[in-house]
Amino acid sequence: MRSKQDSYDVVVIGSGAAGIAAGLTAVQNGRSVLLLEKGKTTGGSSNYTEGLFAINSYLQKAKGIHIKATDVLSEEVNYSKYKADSRIWRNYINSSAENVQWLHDQGVEFEGVQAMGAGEATWHIYKGMGHGVIHDVLQPKFVEQGGEVLTLTRAIKLTRQADGRLRVTLRDHQSGDKYDVLARAVVLASGGYLNNSKMIIEETDYDESRLVPVSSGKGTGDGLRMAWNIGAQKYGTGMAMLFGGYLRDENEPSYKMMASQMNTAAGQQPLLWVNQDGERFVNEEVVYNFSLAGNALYTQSQVFSILDQGVIDKMAVDGNFMGLGIYVKRGQKMDQLQAEIDQALADKKSFIYKADTIEELAEQMNLPVEKLVATIQRYNQFADQGNDGDFGKDPQYLQKVAQGPFYGFHLNVGAFCTMGGLKVTPANEVIDNKAHVIPGLYAAGNDASGLVGDTYGPNMPGTCVGYAFYSGRNAAHHIDEYLK
Ligand SMILES: Cc1cc2nc3c(=O)[nH]c(=O)nc-3n(C[C@H](O)[C@H](O)[C@H](O)COP(=O)(O)OP(=O)(O)OC[C@H]3O[C@@H](n4cnc5c(N)ncnc54)[C@H](O)[C@@H]3O)c2cc1C
Repeated sequence: MRSKQDSYDVVVIGSGAAGIAAGLTAVQNGRSVLLLEKGKTTGGSSNYTEGLFAINSYLQKAKGIHIKATDVLSEEVNYSKYKADSRIWRNYINSSAENVQWLHDQGVEFEGVQAMGAGEATWHIYKGMGHGVIHDVLQPKFVEQGGEVLTLTRAIKLTRQADGRLRVTLRDHQSGDKYDVLARAVVLASGGYLNNSKMIIEETDYDESRLVPVSSGKGTGDGLRMAWNIGAQKYGTGMAMLFGGYLRDENEPSYKMMASQMNTAAGQQPLLWVNQDGERFVNEEVVYNFSLAGNALYTQSQVFSILDQGVIDKMAVDGNFMGLGIYVKRGQKMDQLQAEIDQALADKKSFIYKADTIEELAEQMNLPVEKLVATIQRYNQFADQGNDGDFGKDPQYLQKVAQGPFYGFHLNVGAFCTMGGLKVTPANEVIDNKAHVIPGLYAAGNDASGLVGDTYGPNMPGTCVGYAFYSGRNAAHHIDEYLK
């Protein structure tokens, strides 16, 4: 399918939270807008999101939750080791309540606001997940108000024109035809590069073989590369939003594990982790910040979590210690856990081991037997004493590994997205290698840098998709000024 026009005020590349927010806002500002999506369906990874960050929103006010803007700013910028841009954060935080209000005004319904792990209650959970927000509310509104959506159409090249416009070369997926459209402004909202192995290897330090991307699969870095090719500054690559231990099932799409109780029990609990030498290596309470947990897992070449039957039975009755977003809620009774474990064993999944003794488990996992036995004896002593003499874990998480059968899980590292790659101003304008703005070029969502350092901050949940919505709208507002 071809675009209806040859030229638009605004062309938006990517139809996730950033792209749809940019497109809808630009249409509401009276602009002609073409929203491009290379996939069959719109929404990208934003479809899987549960909620967005805000402070002092109408929902928080109703619950009496007050969070001070400058406290959030200081926490986030410190967390990033000052790699985040304070101006971008300040504007984002200060607009966050209005961002939620705008979504509400478009027709998005919220289930409530909550914390994640040990963080603040900033996570505004929308009904129907990101998929519902985009497909049932924002996209229909965008089309109704005159916006044009083209799916199965990939932007493959940007060219700067002498008249100041940008030429966007498109490829129609079905016919393979290439053609150009002209734009007075372009918003790059292509969602980062998590699904481009080559870029992960070149741009980050992660061991790509251990990373399990859990996303739309469409984040291939197109927006970044198109912009770099016309002189945009490469900035802030190198980080992915890690989210702790994740089981890799070679025969299933990685997304399926999100809702698995076994995966949450294995990868997200503050229980016992050992490395390739059969040794503990960290205070496992780190799971309460899933991105720091991802970093910790990467300090070792291999990581296994070890659960005994006792803790599995306990989680079935009392609930888990930590959940995985709203896919498996924190405190949820793990009533499917045993069945999922039994199924994985029956299917001979490569990530799971079961044995009646620790010695046998160590052999199966190819870990030094004596070392693992010693590690577990020491851990159990700490549990008896109520004091983790090695890593200082809170005694409530020192659950003895004593009751067979014993289970081992090989943990890989889950990742939701990358964040960054293009340096932007607080107006989301893309900056070139000489620190000048590239006229008419904007980046939003995961394509834009400035929000994080090398590690995401789930302590303030929802900031990633919140920024996608905010920065898309912010870009569109500034485009309006630019076009005037
Ligand atoms: C399971 C899961 C749960 C998550 N939950 C949360 C959460 O609750 N809160 C939170 O803050 N964050 C969450 N995240 C992170 C969140 O997904 C991102 O923050 C957010 O979706 C980024 O939005 P985006 O618009 O930048 O990218 P995306 O939503 O990925 O959209 C990018 C779109 O661009 C399209 N595209 C790419 N290249 C081209 C091209 N060349 N031409 C045309 N189209 C192109 C892609 O196909 C895609 O549809 C979650 C992520 C996952 C995977």
